[in-house]
Amino acid sequence: MTAQLLDGKSLARQIQAEIAERVAAFRARTGVTPCLAAVLAGDDPASAVYVRNKEQACKKAGIESRVTLLSSSVGAAELLALVQQLNCDASVHGILVQLPLPAGIDATKILDAVHPLKDVDCFHPENVGLLVQGRPRYLPCTPAGIAELLVRSGVQISGAHVVVVGRSDIVGKPMANMLLQKGRDATVTVCHSRSRGLAEITRSADILIVAAGRAKLVTAEMVRPGAVVVDVGMNRTAAGLVGDVDFAAVKEVASKITPVPGGVGPLTVTMLLANTLRAAEGP
Ligand code: NDP
Repeated sequence: MTAQLLDGKSLARQIQAEIAERVAAFRARTGVTPCLAAVLAGDDPASAVYVRNKEQACKKAGIESRVTLLSSSVGAAELLALVQQLNCDASVHGILVQLPLPAGIDATKILDAVHPLKDVDCFHPENVGLLVQGRPRYLPCTPAGIAELLVRSGVQISGAHVVVVGRSDIVGKPMANMLLQKGRDATVTVCHSRSRGLAEITRSADILIVAAGRAKLVTAEMVRPGAVVVDVGMNRTAAGLVGDVDFAAVKEVASKITPVPGGVGPLTVTMLLANTLRAAEGP
């Protein structure tokens, strides 16, 4: 059996077109252009690519994008002052601080300073708390993109056993929280580097979501025949960009699978646009 490809790239194009229509209608109604302010500190090449992708996607959707570039020698005080300035700027609706920040800067302190109403990445403790309580203000971008991909691909989440590999605050934890909520109704297991018997747990998944940052961690033997596999990983190797799943082998076992690239990545950017529009629309 060869799995059906979950084509995140084409779905992202479709959803971005829907967002562009909503942005145009919002502008016509209010005269306001949604605006995302991105802060890029340091010279991490991957971060520069992500910020450029987000800038281009904003432009296409009719969302204004303002990027502030700061050198890697920037201090925490300067970054905090910039975040405060963006918090107070009424023409800015969403604020994105690209991670990782330069060494020596406490990212938590900077992210906590972003105003919760402008926190379109959903990193602020207030927004994380609302998400956990099942009344989200914003949905975190990567998990929201994955949920959208599953729903629009006709994957049954309710009652399914979802195994999430990875417990980061950006992907694993919010993903598990979202799918656990009433209305999504998955049975969720979360694994991490200390989990015993990983293969046995992943084999019990109806839906397997892998966000470990380890190239080809998940092999065909770790997947139940017919399972849906979502590969969040983005690992730069000598062979190019690869996911956390051994795609060539696992696609022969799974019923549906995301490719890397062209799977989850484009949907993450798309959900950022959706959150920026929501921020402009107001509470
Ligand atoms: P983190 O490094 O923050 O977290 C990785 C998680 O995986 C940790 O919880 C870690 O466990 C777990 N882990 C690592 N190795 C193993 C293992 N051998 N077995 C089981 N669990 C393991 O990464 P992120 O969550 O930020 O990102 C994960 C991947 O997803 C990366 O490749 C990243 O580039 C990619 N990514 C892709 C996005 C997209 O839009 N496509 C968006 C965000 C991330 P422990 O907690 O015990 O250390």
